Amino acid sequence: MLIDVVVMTLQYAAVLTDIFDHVSTEIPADIIERVLLGEAAVEDASALIQCDPAAVFKFADILRAKLAGNSASYIINRNINFSDYCIGTCRFCAFREHKGFKMSLDEIVQKSAQAVQIGATEVCIQGGLMDDMYLEDYCNILKAIKSRFPQLHIHAFSPMEVFHMARTSDTSIKDTLAALKQDGLDSMPGTAAEILSDRVRREICPDKLTVEQWIEVVETAHLAGIPTTATIMYGHIETTDERIRHILTIRDIQRRTGGFTEFVPLPFMPYNNPLGEQLMAEGYYATTGVDDLMIHALARILLYPHVRNIQASWVKLGKKMAQYALLCGANDMGGTLMEESISRSAGALNGEYMPPEEFRWIIRGAGRDAVQRDTLYRPVASK
Ligand code: SF4
Repeated sequence: MLIDVVVMTLQYAAVLTDIFDHVSTEIPADIIERVLLGEAAVEDASALIQCDPAAVFKFADILRAKLAGNSASYIINRNINFSDYCIGTCRFCAFREHKGFKMSLDEIVQKSAQAVQIGATEVCIQGGLMDDMYLEDYCNILKAIKSRFPQLHIHAFSPMEVFHMARTSDTSIKDTLAALKQDGLDSMPGTAAEILSDRVRREICPDKLTVEQWIEVVETAHLAGIPTTATIMYGHIETTDERIRHILTIRDIQRRTGGFTEFVPLPFMPYNNPLGEQLMAEGYYATTGVDDLMIHALARILLYPHVRNIQASWVKLGKKMAQYALLCGANDMGGTLMEESISRSAGALNGEYMPPEEFRWIIRGAGRDAVQRDTLYRPVASK
């Protein structure tokens, strides 16, 4: 016990020395102190954004190293977007009825089989919202996969889909999640968060669940033993303050439940959707590289030490920018995916599949040890 305390004190002292050697001339000491206590405030984040970006990136990198050491991870997984029919009206969506398809259970199982064949540990399943999709239909997807591949982790259904199936089936969120878990749901993507501000949501996705409802679904999932990721879709009409408050909302939830496995910043893709067309007509094209790196760094700093993993999405950022994000607070590069239709529809040009060898190449190129992980960030022996 005493040894643990001594080790922790020494580690803490080492981090402090690192921080004060590298960033204390740029970042005020009282902010550093509140960050290390996990208690940074909105004003601290606003002040950080005004600092030299290089110092903020370095600060985030030191905090990353404290939690993740020299490792950076990736997961072998497969995306299955089972339908693009959707009654939603999100103005940023380029996916809805892009091709007009709905997969049968057999097709979903077949795609899961292909995932298993390439050594995937996870399938990530999401689809559009349909009036005739009930809780039972979602459970049938889970049962069909689990009966064939009991070891495959099913990471499925956004908080919006859970909210939708509870509504179409007239069941409570709690009972809906219990039924999904019973039939094989292992974890959920924390998508549909967009920006957790009702002002922004009214503008960009008026029919989506509210901030309060998103939090209810996610917290209920965590309490039911279903971990989730957390995301932010940034770079459209939100203010800096709304971005910061979004990240701090994630931190507050994590303090209450501990159920987030990671935080994933996702830049808004402006192509082929009404919101992007409007913004581009106003001369606003997309997020810049500095903006992308800054939000990864800010997420690391504000969520420290509550959320341990910050993911850089290679699909959204591109492989090179995602690699650079590993030097600015991120410790994970996401998954192989195999099939990625949502970002691609909105103009992402970074491909649908990245093989494990390429992940390892990119991660090693950033000076990190590449680690294959599972959905819950446990190391997996790579073949
Ligand atoms: S983002 Fe999702 S919920 Fe919104 S319209 Fe597109 S598919 Fe539907």
